[in-house]
Amino acid sequence: MYDNHMHTAFSADSEMTAEDALRKAEQLGIGMVFTEHLDIGLPGKKEFCFDPEVYWKTYEPLRGNRLFLGVEIGMSPGAREENRAFAGKVPFDMVVGSIHMLDGTDLYYPAIYESREKQELYRAYFVSMAREVYQNDFIDVLAHIDYIARYAIYENPSLEYDVFGDEIDAMLGALVATDTLLELNTRRLSDPQVLEELKPIYCRYRELGGRYITIGSDAHTPDAIGAHFSLARDFAESCSLRPVTFCERRMELCRE
Ligand SMILES: [Zn+2]
Ligand SMILES: [Zn+2]
Repeated sequence: MYDNHMHTAFSADSEMTAEDALRKAEQLGIGMVFTEHLDIGLPGKKEFCFDPEVYWKTYEPLRGNRLFLGVEIGMSPGAREENRAFAGKVPFDMVVGSIHMLDGTDLYYPAIYESREKQELYRAYFVSMAREVYQNDFIDVLAHIDYIARYAIYENPSLEYDVFGDEIDAMLGALVATDTLLELNTRRLSDPQVLEELKPIYCRYRELGGRYITIGSDAHTPDAIGAHFSLARDFAESCSLRPVTFCERRMELCRE
């Protein structure tokens, strides 16, 4: 198994060292992909950027079978060209694309939920996700489709496939059409209801032609590495999806 999503000290919001991450992964018997943050245009968060050459030079000696080096890129219409150029600066093993922002507003903060209704906002969120997947054809994986549900302050923040099915289908269709994989982010899986919430979406991805997913913890500290991975693996199997990782931008099946 590989944990395909985590942040070390090259990300503005993490202080995890590569050595601590490697120690934890070894204890768990898993491999890892580091996916440091690049987020251009996040209001008030200009520092979500790193020097790819320094990153590569620092971690390349550690890179091997159990550690690959990637990046998590925040997608938005205004950042496409800069993001594309960044992804080509060093030979990243894996490029993950994320929606952290909608219409220039950071989804991490409550303001957007206070000023917009859930129905309208979630539809816009999935529509923008589908559009950015088509526009950012240099990404390998779409991260945490339930990111909005982590922070939304609505009474019921869940993704509700029965309500947003058309928009979710269009987003999943964009993934299949562009050969982009869906990530299963394990951050919210401590809540058993979240598996119920995600099940129809991941099974629909399979129905539309998706075959593979990446599993990632989004760890910012060593204790979060590999969190809920056995749940995630069973979940993937229940939707007939196979967990993979990426090396040199090519998909590799996880054998154990
Ligand atoms: Zn993210
Ligand atoms: Zn992340």
